[in-house]
Order: sequence, then C-alpha cells, then structure tokens
Amino acid sequence: GFDESVLICDEVDPILNKILQDNGLKISYEPEITPEQILEKISDYNIVIVRSRTTITKEMIDKADNCKIIARVGVGLDNVDQEAAKAKNIRVINAVEGAMNAVAELVLGLMLSLARQTARGDRGIRNEQWLKKELKGTELAGKYLGIVGLGNIGKRLGRLARALNMNIIGYDVVPIDEEFSKEVGLMKADLNTLLQSADYVSIHVPLLDSTYHLLDAQKMSTMKKTAKIINTSRGGVVDEDALYDALKNGTLGGAALDVFEKEPAIGTKLAELDNVILTPHIGAQTKEAQSLAANVIAEKIVQILRG
Ligand code: NAD
Repeated sequence: GFDESVLICDEVDPILNKILQDNGLKISYEPEITPEQILEKISDYNIVIVRSRTTITKEMIDKADNCKIIARVGVGLDNVDQEAAKAKNIRVINAVEGAMNAVAELVLGLMLSLARQTARGDRGIRNEQWLKKELKGTELAGKYLGIVGLGNIGKRLGRLARALNMNIIGYDVVPIDEEFSKEVGLMKADLNTLLQSADYVSIHVPLLDSTYHLLDAQKMSTMKKTAKIINTSRGGVVDEDALYDALKNGTLGGAALDVFEKEPAIGTKLAELDNVILTPHIGAQTKEAQSLAANVIAEKIVQILRG
C-alpha cells in the first residue's frame, strides 16, 4: 500500500474513498471545506481532489508544498489553476469518460423538451392553464443539429441524435474522427455555415480564452429565427446578455442552459422568458457518471503512485 494523504474537498462517490483506502491512502473527506480552510491545511496533503464546488487557486497551489496530484472528478479543468500547478510540478488529472453519456442524454432531453415545450406545459397546469393550443410543437426528425466541438460529448450526442433521424452538422478546430463522421453522415462545416443552417445548436467546447463568448450577439444574429441553442459546456462560452436579447426580441427561437456565466444562476433574467429551459448544472449529475468518474480517478491515482 501507499501512505500518501488525500484531501477530498467536494462530495464524491464513496467508491473513490474506498479504492484509495484499500490502497493504504489516508483520506480526509471534507465536502464542505471552505477556501480559507483549504489554504490553512493544503500543505499537509500529497493529493487534492475536487469536483466542481471547489476552485483550486494559484494562492492555494503556492502553499501546496507536498502536493503531487490534483484530481478533478469530472471533465472541465477550468476550476484548477493549471499553470500554477505545472510550475510547481503537480500533476493535474481529470476523468473525461464519466460525463460523456450523461451530458449527451441531457442534451437530447433538452432538445425534445424545447421541441414540445414540456416545461411550459407543466408550468401551465400548475398555474391552472391548459395550454394545448399554444403548445403546437415540432419534431426532431429531419431537423439539422449543429454540434460545436466534437470531442467525447459532442460525438456521443451526434450518435444519439442520428438515431432520431436528425441531420448532423459538425464544427471543431481539430480534424473530426472519420469513423464517427461516416457513422452519422456528418456534414462538416465552418462555424458560420453551421450557425446559419442549424435548427438546433449544441455547444461542447471547453472554456478557454479562444472560446469565451464564442456565441456572441453577432454570431446569434446569423442564426435562423426559429433556431434553438443548447449549452451544457460552460456558461462563459455563450454571451448570456446577447442570448437574452435575441430570445426576447424573437430573433432566436429558444434556448436550454445547464451552465451559466455566474453559478448558482438564481435570479437570472433568462427565467423571465417562456422559451428557455434552465437546469442547475446537472450534466454529469447521474449515479452512473459519478461512479464512473470516481473509479477512473481512483485508478489513475493508484497508477501514478505506482510510477
Ligand atoms: P473534449 O475535450 O472531449 O471535447 C472538446 C472538443 O472541443 C475538442 O474536440 C476540441 O478540439 C473542441 N474545441 C476546442 N476549442 C474549440 C473551438 N474554438 N471551436 C470548436 N471546437 C473547439 O470535452 P468533452 O468531454 O466533450 O466536454 C465538452 C465540454 O462539456 C467541456 O466544456 C466540459 O467542461 C463540459 N462539461 C459539462 C458538464 C456539465 O455538467 N454540464 C459535464 C461534463 C463536461
């Protein structure tokens, strides 16, 4: 066994603690720990584990003199200062496998819900309104789905949507997987062409300087008036103020957001609009995704310690 000490800063699937403990690691499980408390004690630990609640800052890393690994039980690494970690020779690891199917299935559900306005129908009944006439929907079959970013999640979504007979348009900054392209009959396009042609646009890029406000007012203005945007990537990728204006003015058809520029997004003005569906960053929030990610992280840590 190993004798490294591990600080777990967020709620994670218990399988992670179990595998690490079985390997002799000493675990401090502190899912409610504050940034101040992390600063105080981070120097005692060899491994620091987070999900999405905690942000590991440069200030914390500067104090993490005994740290070898920072692990993110999930995909996006935008809550870890990777440059600071690199400068201190700390390995940063994540688990891309966990969220792939969970997020893709959420997007499918959000698209179906946008097409049939199920959330609005539900709100109606709760407010004693029978909106049958107002809720004449559309179908996904035959519609054009533009996928921006064809990594793990984007490709999984493409396969699921193809099974519903949607036409798939794809854009990425790297060459797109040929096998996937063939399988779904992918139409490759540049971003402008994709935005002009798609009935649904789903975003699956990481949040980087180059993807900040990738969808801004100008880009949105080139889209169909009936088009719907689904964002389950990171809030910063879509300009939320521009999205609000476009939806309010009817220059866009609808949107479904799982991620926001500021989270928790309680009080967002987007909640005023009926053609919007809002979910509280639940993309990877399934039993299966969490346990898969925890297993992957545990295995990666054990492998690294073995050398
Ligand atoms: P991935 O790394 O497998 O794929 C991302 C793809 O985006 C890559 O192919 C990359 O080349 C492409 N890309 C990068 N910059 C681009 C640009 N400017 N234009 C077009 N394509 C670009 O990542 P993934 O696992 O598919 O995750 C995608 C996103 O989903 C990430 O932002 C991640 O943080 C987010 N995510 C959200 C949740 C959630 O709970 N909602 C869960 C998991 C992941």
